Amino acid sequence: MTDDRRPTGFVSLVGAGPGDASLITIGGAARLAAADVVVYDRLANAALLAHARADAERIYAGKEPDRHALTQDQINDLLVEQGLAGRRVVRLKGGDPFVFGRGGEEAAALAAAGVPFEIIPGVTSAIAAPAYAGIPVTQRGVAASFAVVTAHEDPAKDESSIDWSRLATGVDTLVFLMGVERLAQIVARLVEHGRAATTPVAVVEWGTLPRQRVVTAMLATIVDEVARAGIGAPAVTVVGEVVRLRDELRWFDARPLFGKRLLVTRTREQASELSRELAAQGAEAIELPTIELTRSFDGRAVAEAIEDLRTSGYGWIVFTSMNAIAELMRHIGDAGLDVRAFGRARIAAIGPGTATALAAHGLRADVVPERYVAEGLLAALSSRVMRGQRVLLPRAEGARPQIVDELEARGARVDELTLYRSDVPSSPDAEGLRRLRAGEIDIVTFASSSAVRNLVEMLGGDVAPLRATTIAAIGPITAQAVRDAGLEVAVTAEEYSIDGLVAALVARG
Ligand code: SAH
Repeated sequence: MTDDRRPTGFVSLVGAGPGDASLITIGGAARLAAADVVVYDRLANAALLAHARADAERIYAGKEPDRHALTQDQINDLLVEQGLAGRRVVRLKGGDPFVFGRGGEEAAALAAAGVPFEIIPGVTSAIAAPAYAGIPVTQRGVAASFAVVTAHEDPAKDESSIDWSRLATGVDTLVFLMGVERLAQIVARLVEHGRAATTPVAVVEWGTLPRQRVVTAMLATIVDEVARAGIGAPAVTVVGEVVRLRDELRWFDARPLFGKRLLVTRTREQASELSRELAAQGAEAIELPTIELTRSFDGRAVAEAIEDLRTSGYGWIVFTSMNAIAELMRHIGDAGLDVRAFGRARIAAIGPGTATALAAHGLRADVVPERYVAEGLLAALSSRVMRGQRVLLPRAEGARPQIVDELEARGARVDELTLYRSDVPSSPDAEGLRRLRAGEIDIVTFASSSAVRNLVEMLGGDVAPLRATTIAAIGPITAQAVRDAGLEVAVTAEEYSIDGLVAALVARG
């Protein structure tokens, strides 16, 4: 483990996995989170860098095909230098560091300089890209051996060091890395050395990522098929009978939303849940937050409301958003109190999301409407809230939930408590906006009507980029906001929740 007093630092050569950011190991992720400096390659998923500390230095080491940002010697020197400077260094390498990653050379440089280091293996693309194409590299009765081969030998060498005659027929499954532009030579060598021209072959481009593409053919035809599909690097080529198993085992690129690019317009904090669920259905989720929350409250009003709540002055507390729960709980904590501050007040939640957020604090909602909209909440409450009863309604600034009037019309006394403000983000995500304007988004998801209005504002009122997409809304109110903006709604969730929205998208396919 690291020790701050140690004169020299510590270098971890970490396998980042083949692309899918979830394929880094727990050990690798922990090192990444603690690192002072991260030196990364092109093929290490950039999303992983988000797991490094905000103040960690990030150094791009390149490894573009034919265009190294740093030479291997410079990378070795950099690692040694940073290690000797006493820093915790993570060298993040695509796939596994010791599979054609030149990790061995980096480790040797560190060993020679006396810098302590470790190797944290990663999931190699040699196995994972075929796996995500539904191709096991070994299979009982089909393939008992596999070899991982580079097709891109050191260009300085005249003679290939690969023993083609043994390779072609001595190993069941062959996996070639780096060689997609040399596929024709590979195929020629294999056939020349006795591998049947009818042997099945698969080429997997950008394996494990939403942009994965797979082409299958025979040795005799694969070169043409790959050219026709325009497949390029990075790609792995799998040769052997196991390729046939894809017909049956194909899974990743068979997911309902596979390859679709979906825009997630929730707040930065709330986006990840939807993004994760969309990714699980095979989609690429692109986050473009359209809402930014800022705290906004009157300290005295908050203190009074909490005091009345604690002394059971309120018959009901009604939550119409998860943010209101988070903010109220924070104020209760700041006041040195806990959930007991709810006294005997009964609790209403507008939907399953708010009910779950309450449950996280050990609170059970007494009322969750069957239909997750304000009318549903009202219907559920109207028979329960009694004339003269006081109701606390924590909410966003300026938002006046319709249920206030209705509850008051029924004789309840509603205290609205402003806790936060919801605005258009002060510095909108330029990359997300660019992709939307460039027509790179297939489906736009909206989980609230303010998300719709704010996005239109972020587009400067020009809804043309949205017209080119399919629009999905979480419920009827949000769908109406989309129509009010002059746009069409293609998908409206039946259950007005994130799960419902994802289910509706999946059902549409
Ligand atoms: N250490 C890495 C390999 C580095 S060499 C590993 O273990 O995966 C780079 C080559 O790996 C690429 O040319 C390509 O053949 C392969 N590769 C890396 N990521 C890939 C991916 N997501 N899909 C397909 N091939 C990939």
